[in-house]
Amino acid sequence: MSTVITNIGELAGAAEDRWLIEDAALVIDDGRVAWAGPAAAAPATDEEYDAGGRAVLPGFVDSHAHLVFAGERAEEFAARMSGRPYAAGGIRITVARTRAASDDDLRANVRRLVGEMARQGTTTVECKSGYGLTVEQEERAVRIAAELVDEVTFLGAHVVPEGTDPADYVRLVTGPMLEACAPHARFIDVFCERGAFDAEQTREILSAGRAVGLVPRLHANQLGHGPGAGIAVEYDAASADHCTYLSEDDVAALAGSRTVATLLPGVEFSTRQPYPDARALIDAGASVALATDCNPGSCYSSSMAFCVALAVREMHMTPEEAVRAATEGGAKALRRADVGHLRPGARADVLMLDAPSHIHLAYRPGVPLVARVWRKGQPL
Ligand SMILES: [Zn+2]
Repeated sequence: MSTVITNIGELAGAAEDRWLIEDAALVIDDGRVAWAGPAAAAPATDEEYDAGGRAVLPGFVDSHAHLVFAGERAEEFAARMSGRPYAAGGIRITVARTRAASDDDLRANVRRLVGEMARQGTTTVECKSGYGLTVEQEERAVRIAAELVDEVTFLGAHVVPEGTDPADYVRLVTGPMLEACAPHARFIDVFCERGAFDAEQTREILSAGRAVGLVPRLHANQLGHGPGAGIAVEYDAASADHCTYLSEDDVAALAGSRTVATLLPGVEFSTRQPYPDARALIDAGASVALATDCNPGSCYSSSMAFCVALAVREMHMTPEEAVRAATEGGAKALRRADVGHLRPGARADVLMLDAPSHIHLAYRPGVPLVARVWRKGQPL
């Protein structure tokens, strides 16, 4: 069964030589994009869907989220926004609640958030573990994530659990925990930051993951300058995520590598921190992705459209740069060639906006602009 979406005012990400095609059509067949081009030249199909002049984009690729958790931390957010000090150890509060939750509770939470994302146009989701921090709990987190999302990352090295010796914990992460989690994950991640894991520990954990076939990615340079971005490049990581505090050398290293700089501006918004310097990265030639970092502590938003609006307003990206970072950038950060674009052969993950142009995502922030979403060719 083939379907043509015709009368598209603006079709993004469907041609090799230009990002936008006006007055376009898109043919979907068997869950894949079969053809894209000018509406007048579209081939005959079984079904036709009239876009009414609206904009059509690839579905968003959210390449960084923490969805396997229980409980929320609204009070902590309110305290932070009013400048009051709040109880320390936010991640540890979520760890305690997550450990106490049943498999079905965790599954229901992931399903709820993935549904929330889909209704906002996100059709590819990455999800990390990291709120379990024991062999059994981390294995459970990656296993549940693997049932419900496209890409899974093992993040046993999120924080050192309370009362545990850091060296002992690194031995656990690189030993039995890695062995239990690797079958369910494609990536390995480390929170490389002062107070979490240092350069030496990060290298040890990434090396162990790579040795069993996992692809490195890194939480890097979120809270201050540090070695994270450099280590990400050294390990040919798929992405260095956050990149809020980068030196000129870090920017040059990322630009000279295939490691994507994944920016998470919802975190800076929700923690009232300075935004990363997207312009420096883009102008140097680095690949940039945008993602939500959806998690109950530092950014409880699942909206890629919100990230696009922040990237344009606060990080001086053009609307085209921001939407491309939220689609093809995310795909590159996940080393996926089949999503993030709508060229023939792509998975038919299609976002139709209730607007004539992708610019409206930044121009009309906070407004629900999703008219219709197809995932693998099926309308949601
Ligand atoms: Zn994160």
